[in-house]
Amino acid sequence: MIQKLRISSLVGIHLLILAHIYYFGDEIIGSLDFQEFFHAFIKYGIINAGVVLVILAFVTTLIFGRFFCGWACHFGAVQELAWWLLQKMGITPKTINSSLVTILPLFVLLNFYLAPNLASALDSPWEGIILNLGMPEIWAFLPGFVIGTLTFVVDGFLIVYFLGRKGFCRYLCPWGAFLKLPNSLAMFKVRYTGGCTQCGNCTSECPIGIDVSYEINNYGKVTNTNCTSCMICTEGCPSSALSYKWENPLKENFQFKHYGLNREMFALPVISDRFQSVHARDFLLLPLVLAFGYSIDGLYGMGHFLSFGIAAISGIYFFTSSSARLPVNLGEKKSKRKNFIIGLLLIIFVWHGVVKFSIWQGLDQFEKHQYFSAISHLERAVTMYPKPIGRFHLCLAEMYLEIGDIELAREHALEAQKINPQHEGPKKLIEKLK
Ligand code: SF4
Ligand code: SF4
Repeated sequence: MIQKLRISSLVGIHLLILAHIYYFGDEIIGSLDFQEFFHAFIKYGIINAGVVLVILAFVTTLIFGRFFCGWACHFGAVQELAWWLLQKMGITPKTINSSLVTILPLFVLLNFYLAPNLASALDSPWEGIILNLGMPEIWAFLPGFVIGTLTFVVDGFLIVYFLGRKGFCRYLCPWGAFLKLPNSLAMFKVRYTGGCTQCGNCTSECPIGIDVSYEINNYGKVTNTNCTSCMICTEGCPSSALSYKWENPLKENFQFKHYGLNREMFALPVISDRFQSVHARDFLLLPLVLAFGYSIDGLYGMGHFLSFGIAAISGIYFFTSSSARLPVNLGEKKSKRKNFIIGLLLIIFVWHGVVKFSIWQGLDQFEKHQYFSAISHLERAVTMYPKPIGRFHLCLAEMYLEIGDIELAREHALEAQKINPQHEGPKKLIEKLK
């Protein structure tokens, strides 16, 4: 019954999204994106619709836990759909456990959203708080169609296949990371009411991969800050040993050890086929995923979610066996193909890492008027980067002109014009070269 209500809520959210697009438009209620809290409020002191949503989510989480994530998140619903489809196809991916679950979402939140906007606000303090519910427009932060679709496929479907149910929520979502603190203080939690037989059903069925059985038997409640209050565990417990209950926060038993990593978790034999741990490789996995993510972040117009989603899937793919995802163990037969894919992925990430480094160095030295070194970096970038970028050719044209190589200046100016025919920069430069 509760799950039917929850699914209805997730369907209802999509109907509300449609209503938002068709009836309210941009003028009344603009973008309802979590990013707004960082880009609009922290940076400029603007309270818009997205900021109101985040404040509501934060306050309700203090009371009900991450109810928003389990009952109202559009991207959570996409992953539930992916899981349902995989089950229909006879595929039950294992839930992959790694320290990355805690570190990566916090890293994305702090590094890309909190720190730069806070630094900007400290640099240019707000002049006051502004209320503007209509700005920015609904689609302001969405990437183009191709990158948007790819983000949907990678973070909504592939991540579930490779990292397990709700892989995006666990491994990447910075908004979930933002709600961890209020969730740890939430008054309503899944609590132990007695009678557990250690059947492991709650742990097996938890979409977030929490060892519910361990937590309730050792802490008396679910303390994992990733819990989304979905109540799958309470509803599915054959002994009715769990209840989603309120506790007076003044009487709540808060202990640091309840929130730390515990190596004794996931030890019940009945759940062993549902999880795979890569904790032993975390020391390699963490730097690898960060390096992969940085090597492609921003290229081809890719956002952080897509870049680090690809990075997390690829990094973990290196360290998990094929049997983590297949209904029968075909691991051995697949190993040659897997080695080939790993080799290919390494080439792609290293290649794009060199492109990113060359662009960064090239533009930095262009700004500093160190033209000879900037030219060598940007020439490498335009040769290796499959996407033609007019701005890089324009910079090269300007630098060649500065050092007196008119022929190469003309060549790059013409290339820049071919890429961006409407842009004034290449036109002016070509005129000047005449
Ligand atoms: S499903 Fe119920 S009985 Fe089984 S381990 Fe979880 S709490 Fe205990
Ligand atoms: S612990 Fe229970 S309520 Fe929390 S996410 Fe897991 S199944 Fe849902």
